[in-house]
Order: sequence, then structure tokens, then C-alpha cells
Amino acid sequence: MSSLAFSVLFLSFLGVTVLLRFWLSSRHIRHVVAHRHAVPAEFAEKIPLYAHQKAADYTVARTKLGMLSLMVNTVVLIGFTLLGGLQWLSVTLFKITGPGMTYQLALLASFGLISALIELPFDYYKQFVLEAKFGFNKMTLGLFISDLVKNTLVAIVIGLPLVWVILTLMDKSGDLWWLYAWFVWTGFQLLMLVLYPTVIAPLFNKFTPLQDESLRTRIENLMQRVGFASKGLFVMDGSKRSAHGNAYFSGFGGAKRIVFFDTLLARLGPQEIEAVLAHELGHFKLKHIVKRIVVMFAISLGFLALLGYLKTQVWFYTGLGVDPLLIGNNDAMALILFMLVLPVFTFILSPLSSITSRKHEFEADAFAAQYTNAQDLVSALVKLYEDNASTLTPDPLHSAFYDSHPPASVRIQHLLASR
Ligand SMILES: [Zn+2]
Repeated sequence: MSSLAFSVLFLSFLGVTVLLRFWLSSRHIRHVVAHRHAVPAEFAEKIPLYAHQKAADYTVARTKLGMLSLMVNTVVLIGFTLLGGLQWLSVTLFKITGPGMTYQLALLASFGLISALIELPFDYYKQFVLEAKFGFNKMTLGLFISDLVKNTLVAIVIGLPLVWVILTLMDKSGDLWWLYAWFVWTGFQLLMLVLYPTVIAPLFNKFTPLQDESLRTRIENLMQRVGFASKGLFVMDGSKRSAHGNAYFSGFGGAKRIVFFDTLLARLGPQEIEAVLAHELGHFKLKHIVKRIVVMFAISLGFLALLGYLKTQVWFYTGLGVDPLLIGNNDAMALILFMLVLPVFTFILSPLSSITSRKHEFEADAFAAQYTNAQDLVSALVKLYEDNASTLTPDPLHSAFYDSHPPASVRIQHLLASR
């Protein structure tokens, strides 16, 4: 391929993706606004009008912020690539460090830093203006800053050695480097499944064993019925950051733990909590989690093989506004370019992952209905939708691209039909 042909291909995909995303967002806003005046009939008795309208306004505000962020990110992407941002960064660093690992790490680190700095005002605005306006923000500025510092340190402590290993493999292990890198990446992901709940998450939140005796008995009974062994039930102080509620599992094998946000426990009754947990256990028992991990590993193998090819093609660099170095190597640059442009070529495929994920949600709902009461899950879902100000009337096409969960009304219809 010629470098011009690749530039044209990249710009065409970028144009299609950006236009498609703008179109989906504006459809979504129109759809939500058009349904703002009345609660959908099937929820009329369960959700008050003011909550429905708050959800509509919250959705519109978030979607608009998403459009602004898309605009900025598109300009940044073109700036980094075709307008020569990465080329300038590379030349500047190369003058200071010369060829070698220092140059490569410096390039990756400064690219990461610049991207994070561009993202920062959006994160700040989202938390302290948007979330605050709708009453969801519980974070102080001090916590925001300490999170930022901790996240940066974790990224350095964990990311730097990983990147060093991958760059060394790219440089020294020959044509099959991508296969070895895949083994490293896979091993790293598995290690993170263990390290995240036990080491990383506790840096940010406090986890205390679930105290409530009767709730614990209820949950232990459910786990026994379902046949699930766990290392413990924990409550996480999610309320120090946000009023949004959630429950999740982490770890695997014997180290599995179930984590409830304190905000969820405060809001749901014992039967509803049991039903929500049964849904999560359904994901586990029906092997959704294992399947998702296997698919992720297969996809990353494919992408690494693709990168193995692209890294040796001059047009991949020049087509994206970078002159490959003649002395020293271009591995870090190849990684950066690949991470930057991959989403441009894959966004169009996102409904595929939504389809699988929705199928899994229905299956987990059916599992919960089998082991607990479907009505309890319905009332829990209604409360969670209301509390999170999730819209009940998303645009169907927008939803197909972005939502991992089926629309509330469809989920609830399925659940009620299963009784
Ligand atoms: Zn689920």
C-alpha cells in the first residue's frame, strides 16, 4: 500500500466513524427529549414524572458532553498523526535521548502524559459540574487529586515494566515477537484478575466484610442453592465518590469475592439485593465471564498479529504523518499509532459485542428469576434505573452501538413473562 492510500483510508474511516457517532448522539438526544413529557406506560406506576425527567436531562447532558469530547479527540487524533504532532515529539525526544530504550519509554510516557492532560478537564467537568448538578457527585477536590496521583503511580509501577518487556520482545525476539508478547499480555491480564481486588482496589476504597447477619445468611443460602463458593462478602464505600450504586464480583478460583457498593445496600431491600446478586451469579454460573475473557484473549492475539505485520510496513508510519527512524527502532511509535487508529477502524463493529453482551444479560436475568423471585429483580432494576437516572427511552440505534445492557423496558418484559 502507498502511504497516500493509507492516509486516505484512515481519513475515510475517521470521517465515517465521527459522522456516525454524531448522528447516533443527536438521534439519542432527540429521542429522549421527545419522550420526556411522560413516563412510559409500563413504568407509569413505578417511576414518578420528576425522576423520568431528571433521567432525560441527565442523559442529554452526558450525551452532549460526549459529543464535545468526540470533537476534541478527533482534532487531537489528527494533530498527533497527519498534522505532525507525534513526528515533532519523536524528533524532539530523540535529540535528547538518542536511540534506544530510553527514547522508546520517553516517547510512550510523554504521549500518555499529553493524552491524560487533554482528558483531565473533561474528567473534572464531568465529576464536579455534570454529576454534581444531578446530585451524584460525592467526591471532594482533595479526593479527585489523590485519585489522580494514585492512578498515575499505579500506571507507572505496573505499566512501565510491562511496556519494557513488550518493547524488548518487539526488538529482540524476531518475527514471532507478537506471539511471545501475547503470552506476556495474557499472563499479565490473569495476574491482574488476582491483583486488582486484593492490592489495587483497596488503594482506592475501603472493603469491609458484610456485617448484616440476616442479609449474610440470606446470601449464603442463595450461594448454596446455586452452588457457588466465595472467599467473602464485602461492602465497598462507593459513596465517597458517587451516589451511583453497583454490585460486582472479582477474582477467580478460590479467591472470588462479592462486592456490594454501600449505596446499593442502602437503597435495596434484602430480597432485591438477593435478586441482584443472583443475576451476577448467573453471569458466573453460565460461564459468561470465562467466555468474555477467552474472546478478549483471541481478539488480542489477532490484533497483535496485525501489529506484527504493520510494524514492518513503512506506509503505516508515513501514512499517519510519521517518518520512521533509520537508526534506532520504531516499536514504541508503532504501539502508539496502533492504539490511536485501531478504534477508528473498529467502531463500526461495536454492535457485535453489544449483541453478545445483551444475550448474556437476558440469560443472567432468567437465571435470577429461576433462583429468586423475578418480581424482586424487577423492583430492584426499577430502583437502580431511577437512582442512576438511566433513561428508559434510549434511541434504539444508539443503544445498539453503546449499551451493553438491553433497554430496561425490554428486560422487565422478559422477566415478567418468565414468571
Ligand atoms: Zn448483568
